[in-house]
Amino acid sequence: MKTMTCKQLGGACDKVFKATTFDELAAMSKQHGMEMFQQQDAAHLVAMQEVMTLMADPAAMAAWMGKKKQEFDALPED
Ligand SMILES: [Zn+2]
Repeated sequence: MKTMTCKQLGGACDKVFKATTFDELAAMSKQHGMEMFQQQDAAHLVAMQEVMTLMADPAAMAAWMGKKKQEFDALPED
């Protein structure tokens, strides 16, 4: 298992996600992001704005995800 925080994944809080693969971790982060979006959490809305901008550009989004995956791969196992 590896650990990353919401902030490390482009979010706005220190919520911790633990997963074996980056895909799992990204899914958890996405789920959390959607919950925060539904609650209209101001800090997350601002953070998500940046991710939304990235999503409009698939190449930029892929590059961003690739960078996050590298960070994940570089982490030590818990
Ligand atoms: Zn968060």
